[in-house]
Amino acid sequence: MSSKKVLDESLTRDIECIMISAAQLQARTQELGREISRDYRRLLGSALEENTPIAIGLLRGAITFMADLTRALSIPIEYDFMQPSSYGQSHEAGPLRLLHDLTQPVVGRHLLVIEDIVDTGQTLSYLKEKLLQRGAASVKLCALLDKPARRQQAVTLDYTGFCIEQDAFLVGYGLDYAERYRNLPYVAALKPQAYQGE
Ligand code: 5GP
Repeated sequence: MSSKKVLDESLTRDIECIMISAAQLQARTQELGREISRDYRRLLGSALEENTPIAIGLLRGAITFMADLTRALSIPIEYDFMQPSSYGQSHEAGPLRLLHDLTQPVVGRHLLVIEDIVDTGQTLSYLKEKLLQRGAASVKLCALLDKPARRQQAVTLDYTGFCIEQDAFLVGYGLDYAERYRNLPYVAALKPQAYQGE
């Protein structure tokens, strides 16, 4: 029996094209997992067990990537979540607020922030500063997707899955438009007419 599923037409009719296939996502996530595990082993050595890093997933877009990435790690890792204000129903950015915060203090902890996509850089530069102010021992930034041409605020990513050069609005593999498309197994560009005139 074939395991290939047919996606509902309502999920695919506004998709312009697939930008990153499920197989490419899988392969790159495994590579990142190996790289991140190696780096934390180098940084923490035998102290890794008492100094377990915390993966901080940014709700909601990063959870799919976080689930795959953390399972590709060969080191111990804890989970926590933050929710910066999202684009809501729109594809345009607005001012940043924190809708959900961490459930524990991070003083002296090593943090790996996991984001779906970096656009202007506002979210990650704000969060990194905030976490360092709270006394984190280190803050590393990992983003599945990066749109460097759109950057307004300098931010150095420690790990990047894929660089996106095209001017496209992306959905799938956790990323939404108006809360839809998160469960697509790939990353796709949305047809401009699907969000223009909103
Ligand atoms: P930044 O603060 O870097 O401007 O924005 C990052 C956030 O913008 C991401 O977490 C995501 O919510 C949203 N974003 C930016 N570009 C896209 C995109 O192409 N598709 C989707 N779905 N969200 C995006």
